[in-house]
Amino acid sequence: MRRRIAVLTSGGDAPGMNAAIRAVVLVAADLEIDVVGVRAGYAGLIDADFVDLGPDDVVDLIRQGGTALGSARCPAFTTREGRDTARRRLADARIDGVVVIGGNGSLAGARALGDPNECGPRPLAVVGIPASIDNDIGHTRLAIGVDTAMNTIVEACDKIADTAAAHDRAFIVEVMGRECGYLAMATSVAAGADVVLFRESGKSIEALVDEVADALVELRAKGRRRALVVKAEGVQAPADALKRRVDAALAARGAAVETRVTVLGHIVRGGRPSATDRLVATRLGHAAVRALADGRAGVMAAWSPGRLPASGGEWSKADPRCALIDLDEVLAETARLLDAASPEAAWRAQVFDRMGHVLRL
Ligand code: ADP
Repeated sequence: MRRRIAVLTSGGDAPGMNAAIRAVVLVAADLEIDVVGVRAGYAGLIDADFVDLGPDDVVDLIRQGGTALGSARCPAFTTREGRDTARRRLADARIDGVVVIGGNGSLAGARALGDPNECGPRPLAVVGIPASIDNDIGHTRLAIGVDTAMNTIVEACDKIADTAAAHDRAFIVEVMGRECGYLAMATSVAAGADVVLFRESGKSIEALVDEVADALVELRAKGRRRALVVKAEGVQAPADALKRRVDAALAARGAAVETRVTVLGHIVRGGRPSATDRLVATRLGHAAVRALADGRAGVMAAWSPGRLPASGGEWSKADPRCALIDLDEVLAETARLLDAASPEAAWRAQVFDRMGHVLRL
C-alpha cells in the first residue's frame, strides 16, 4: 500500500506557500507517496477537512500568492485534547507524515503534533518548512515570503520617495515584522532610505526621535528635497505617535520640515511570489519530503543556514543548500532571535546600526 502524507499551511500567510505545496505534491508523486491537503491549517486537521492532491491539482500554483489550502489560527490545537483529535483524524485517514508550512507558532504546533510523548504507540512524522515574511525564524537564512515582502516594500518606498521629493517632505514608512526588525533593516538599504528604526537597536523612543529629527535637519541643511525613514512595526511607538514626537522635536530645533506617515500593513503580505521565494519554497519542499521519505521526523527544512547548530542538525541529502534542523533547536533559536540574544540578532543589529550612519551621507 502506498504511503500517505498530509500538507498544511498555518499562521500568517506568506507569498511562496503555494510553491512549497506544489513542490511537496510533485516530489511525493515522484516517490510514489500520496498527498492529502489539509484546509485551514490545524483547524482543518481537527475537522478532517482533507482533499487529495496530485500533480494535476498544483499546475500553475507556483505563480499564486497566499495559500490555496487556506490558513487559520486555531486555539483548540494548543490543547492536548485538540492535538489528540487531530492525530486521530490523521490515523483514520491512514496518514503517517505531515509537512507543516508556517511561521514560529505553526512550527511550535508541528513540534507538539509529532511529540513522541503525546503520540504514544502510533508515531507521527512531522517536518516543518519556515514561511514568514518577517524572517523571524531561527537557523534559516530566509523564510518563504521574505524576499517578496522586501520587493513590495522597496517598490512602495520608491513611489513614496517620488512624492516626497515633489513636495519636499519627509516620510515615515512603517513596515511589518512584529518583534523582528529584519524587513525594516534590509529594505532601508535596498530602498535608499535615510534613517532606519528597529527594536533590536535597544534605543529608547526619545533617542530614536532625536535621531530622526537630527537626520531631517541635517538633510534639509544639505538641500535634500526628500527624506525617507523606515520604521519597524516592533518599535514601541505607533507611527502616528512617533510623527507627533518628531514634529515636536523639529519645532524645538526651529526646523520647518513637513512629515507624513505611511503604514504599509497587509499589502506587504500579498502578491505573486518573487523568483527567489519560488526557488526557496520549491527546494525546501523537496528537502522536506525527501526527509520524510528517509524516515526523518521532528525537523525543519532550513534554507542555507551557513553552519549547523551544535545541538541537532544535518545537511539535507537531497539538496546541498538545505539542512534539517531539530524543531526544538529551531524554536530555541527563534526565541533567542526575538530576544535579540542570539549571535544572528546581534550581528543584524550591529551591521544595520553601523549602516545607519552611512545611509544619509
Ligand atoms: P505563525 O505560524 O505565523 O507564527 P501563529 O503564532 O498564530 O502563527 O500560530 C499558528 C497556529 O499554530 C496557532 O493558531 C496554533 O494553532 C498553533 N500553535 C501556535 N503555538 C503553538 C504551541 N505552542 N503549541 C501548539 N500549537 C501552537
